[in-house]
Amino acid sequence: MTHKKPFLPEKMCPVCRRPFRWRKKWRNTWEQVIYCSQACAGRKRPEGLSSSAAKRKDQRSKRGY
Ligand SMILES: [Zn+2]
Repeated sequence: MTHKKPFLPEKMCPVCRRPFRWRKKWRNTWEQVIYCSQACAGRKRPEGLSSSAAKRKDQRSKRGY
């Protein structure tokens, strides 16, 4: 068989820790895709959710708020 396999980029989902492949629906947004599915995007860890809050806290403590 000389049929070439199309190369599909892969990413690892930080929630379920599984690699997932490029999909057509992501052809324009692949760079921004982080999670393998909406389910995982909704299940992201509280760490991720509070990271911006933690940053703010950090800035505050640096400023001596
Ligand atoms: Zn996932």
